[in-house]
Amino acid sequence: MDALTGKSAIVTGSTSGIGLAIARAFASAGANVVINGFGAPADIEKERLGIETDFKVKAAYSPADMSKPAEIAEMVVLGHKAFGSVDILVNNAGIQFVSTIEEFPPEKWEAIIAINLSSAFYSIRAAVPAMKKRGWGRIINTASAHSLVASPFKSAYVSAKHGIAGLTKTVALELATHKITCNCISPGYVWTPLVERQIPETMKARNLTKEQVIKDVLLEAQPTKEFVTSGQVAAMALFLCSDHAAQITGANYTIDGGWTAE
Ligand code: NAD
Repeated sequence: MDALTGKSAIVTGSTSGIGLAIARAFASAGANVVINGFGAPADIEKERLGIETDFKVKAAYSPADMSKPAEIAEMVVLGHKAFGSVDILVNNAGIQFVSTIEEFPPEKWEAIIAINLSSAFYSIRAAVPAMKKRGWGRIINTASAHSLVASPFKSAYVSAKHGIAGLTKTVALELATHKITCNCISPGYVWTPLVERQIPETMKARNLTKEQVIKDVLLEAQPTKEFVTSGQVAAMALFLCSDHAAQITGANYTIDGGWTAE
């Protein structure tokens, strides 16, 4: 329960879905957590992390927009000011858009590349100097099964996720002698607002009903025919922060019901 006592983490995109589950898992393990994303409530500790008032863990909130490099740098400064260190950085914020390539709006392409890929470059860049000084760090990027395989109509998302897999490996090699690991986790489909929002877009791009999208596109991708849960992703993030994972770096862990084994 207290594996992360004394450690502080930033989890981007943690007001919802997978990021929220990771933030909660870290807090339960004793870490202080900076949560980030849109729509954070006033009482972060109680409402979002489920932390009792007498719990030793603290939470802070950064409203940084992950498409804005200056705000990303401010988020890392806030982490240091609030807790004295940023030992763990989880680049998780992400958006999705589904469309045929010829109708794909350029502004959606730009936003997806900025939020799903470039934000990780900027936050790692800002967090690494202090991690190097402390001689310890864990960087985890939420990639996707789409970091390994493509799907039609997701040109920007697939490109960004393949990119973050490459960034992960590069950073891992650069920081290997500093006791800083960098890995990514690649979930299959998790039922979150991001997935719910892409259903009408997928219906349009593939000319399918909602039921067909869920059964023939989402669940069909995963041999287990089940959704992954955000808790399963959070458990992997927790493991990657533990001492057991000290020699794991540059890895891409799939949690995808067998999708990328096919
Ligand atoms: P979600 O929509 O539930 O959560 C996304 C989070 O990112 C929210 O907190 C949101 O406020 C935040 N966010 C979005 N744009 C932002 C911005 N510009 N600045 C700051 N925060 C921003 O989605 P999710 O499914 O939990 O997705 C989290 C991550 O997991 C994403 O990187 C996504 O690509 C990845 N992922 C999701 C699935 C899935 O099936 N849900 C599968 C594989 C990978």
